[in-house]
Amino acid sequence: MKDYSVWRLLEEGMRGHQGWPRAWREPAPRPAYDIVIIGGGGHGLASAYYLARVHGLTDVAVIEKGPIGLGNVGRNTTIVRSNYLYPENNRFYEKSLQLWEGLEQDLNFNVMMSQRGVLNLFHSDSQRDAFARRGNSMRLNGIDAELLDREGVRAMAPVLDFDNARFPIHGGLLQRRGGTARHDAVAWGFARAASGRGVDIIQHCEVTGIRREGGRVTGVETTRGFIGARKVGIAVAGHTSQVAAMAGLSLPVESHLLQAFVSEAVKPLLDCVVTFGAGHFYISQSDKGGLVFGGNLDGYNSYAQRGTLPVAEEVMAEGIAVVPALSRLRVLRQWAGIMDMTPDGSPLICKTPVEGLFLNGGWCYGGFKAIPGSGWCFAHTLATGEPHELNAAFTLDRFRNGRALDEKGAGPAWWAQ
Ligand SMILES: Cc1cc2nc3c(=O)[nH]c(=O)nc-3n(C[C@H](O)[C@H](O)[C@H](O)COP(=O)(O)OP(=O)(O)OC[C@H]3O[C@@H](n4cnc5c(N)ncnc54)[C@H](O)[C@@H]3O)c2cc1C
Repeated sequence: MKDYSVWRLLEEGMRGHQGWPRAWREPAPRPAYDIVIIGGGGHGLASAYYLARVHGLTDVAVIEKGPIGLGNVGRNTTIVRSNYLYPENNRFYEKSLQLWEGLEQDLNFNVMMSQRGVLNLFHSDSQRDAFARRGNSMRLNGIDAELLDREGVRAMAPVLDFDNARFPIHGGLLQRRGGTARHDAVAWGFARAASGRGVDIIQHCEVTGIRREGGRVTGVETTRGFIGARKVGIAVAGHTSQVAAMAGLSLPVESHLLQAFVSEAVKPLLDCVVTFGAGHFYISQSDKGGLVFGGNLDGYNSYAQRGTLPVAEEVMAEGIAVVPALSRLRVLRQWAGIMDMTPDGSPLICKTPVEGLFLNGGWCYGGFKAIPGSGWCFAHTLATGEPHELNAAFTLDRFRNGRALDEKGAGPAWWAQ
């Protein structure tokens, strides 16, 4: 695997960039692998990479129905953070953030990690108390968190309308180490690094069935034939319930749409990520200058990656309330992705009742930031057959035995902050 050093860039620049090899191999599927991961999104690719790097397992294939990077991994608003309330979540997401912090060196790939700060605005006394509680929980777990008053927020983001007629801004909870990364570069970086270590990435190969014998998984049926496997990991995000159904599993996961919007490019206006605490709106500015923003789910089950106008209107209304300058800009692009929503807003990284079949999903709105941490934990679970301590709580059983991790502000009940 060629590196992307300065010398190599110079050398290639002199030769008209004709000498770059493909970033990852495109092998034909072999008849069988030790481990098959279904889904070449961020989670599938990261899991394959850590299986190879941390556990030395390379008899691994990632099976992707389209080209990699066109699922949610390339369709999100790129916010990374670890500002969760519950220890099970904030420890897991903090591990992920720590991996993000070293990811470019680890993968030798520029994922444009930008720790510009994530600022959650609060708009009432009770909301301040809730945010202070979350910040305290983070600090107790060694995670950076600062409670800013109104003037502290004004110093960071003067473009906000502090006395907007809807919900005046009282302050914010800031995580300075949070920020953004470039979404599709994350898929490419993990794919390149996994492939370089011997993992087969099989694109344009849809899994149509999961074969079992005697209660144990034996492989996957695909549009390119049967592929045998001792272990199979599902990492298909918005299609989790569909693919799990192929193994006879009915999961507490619903697929919903989430939209994103990008405005025309403007000069630097906002150099941190801001979320609006009185609705569901978040905004940042991309390195090209476009304002990248989004809001709430469309609110009905769908696999169409488009989104509806009523929600687009709601997102614009919230955005203009908190950043009035937005009303002067044109929206250049809009799209939607498919969210795999769990009832408690927390994910699933676990074994399933089918022996040899493992599950990674239920990422709700927040699976992008989780990609390195999820890959790390899922690789451990796949390799050892046991959960890593950081994903021990992310089981299917928690819904059966009443131990839901009802992370306020992350799941379907986002308003219950
Ligand atoms: C608009 C929007 C904004 C978001 N903003 C953020 C954010 O700011 N921060 C954050 O942390 N998260 C965010 N998210 C959530 C995040 O993008 C997802 O949770 C995460 O990307 C999902 O994991 P993934 O990357 O593995 O999914 P995907 O990239 O969707 O990967 C799953 C893959 O499985 C493949 N697949 C499905 N079925 C099959 C099959 N039968 N056979 C083979 N392959 C199959 C799909 O083609 C897909 O490539 C956002 C999502 C959206 C849509």
